[in-house]
Amino acid sequence: MYDYDLLVVGSANADLVIGVERRPGAGETVLGSDLAVHPGGKGANQAAAAARLGARTALLARVGDDGHGRLLLDSQRAAGVDTVGVLVGGAPTGVALIQVDPSGDNSIVVSPGANGRLTPADVRAAGGLFHASRVVSAQLEIPLETVVEVVRSLAPGSRFVLNPSPPLPLPAEVLAACDPLIVNEHEAKVILGGAATGDSPEEWAELLLARGPRSVVVTLGGEGALVASADGVARVPSVKVRAVDTTGAGDAFTAALAWRLGAGEPLAQAAAYAARVGAVTVTREGAQVSFPTAAEVAAL
Ligand code: ADP
Repeated sequence: MYDYDLLVVGSANADLVIGVERRPGAGETVLGSDLAVHPGGKGANQAAAAARLGARTALLARVGDDGHGRLLLDSQRAAGVDTVGVLVGGAPTGVALIQVDPSGDNSIVVSPGANGRLTPADVRAAGGLFHASRVVSAQLEIPLETVVEVVRSLAPGSRFVLNPSPPLPLPAEVLAACDPLIVNEHEAKVILGGAATGDSPEEWAELLLARGPRSVVVTLGGEGALVASADGVARVPSVKVRAVDTTGAGDAFTAALAWRLGAGEPLAQAAAYAARVGAVTVTREGAQVSFPTAAEVAAL
């Protein structure tokens, strides 16, 4: 028996959000709305999203010994996440400066802070969490060497899910462990480098699969998603909603997918559920505050 459906290893940031009529270009200043401070970071977001859906979830992360760190710990606990693996100190809590325009598109600057100090030794010291977790998910807002150690720490029989964001070229050892590798269009193109010749997500999925993951998911925003494995490539239909703020959609999608895969659902079925979770998320402002419960997903 596993104690956790999902262990998320990743970042925890304070999201400082300002609404703008138009996102500024180089050298330009624009006026925005009042500042809103939300708990965020891809790791904390995925953990909160999974726990809100009902998954037994733990987070392995590092925050600063400061107000933003306390905000993150409080919000994780409020969402139902076990924070036994959240380390405190070493640097200020990570911060993301987010501008959101009226169409819901955003621009983000991240100061990694304590996330950059989550080390391979921290992962080794948390070995018990890996043995207690059915699925482990990670992103790339922590050092790549730490993600490599996560892959090496996976317990036999557990499943690894990676959302390589922000995207970097990935070592073969990490790619081979992914089941699935979850990318949006931007991440797919960066990871493929010059290998992607066209604009076909089917082509990206095939090319990514050839790099070693057991499965690949390409998320396509309002167009839904695509799943690829040895069984072939399949489209996951989009859910039509009015998008207000796309912040956190990919995190909610990844969390939901990881949870449903851990429950034994086939990839396409788990991705269809995750697309519904992503769709509810974009209809609401903010990241963690926009994540739905399972009952809200069912009501969509
Ligand atoms: P990311 O946030 O990583 O860029 P996407 O924007 O592709 O990821 O969103 C992740 C998933 O959330 C999509 O695959 C889709 O299922 C859902 N989603 C995102 N935007 C919308 C939208 N405008 N309408 C409906 N679903 C959406």
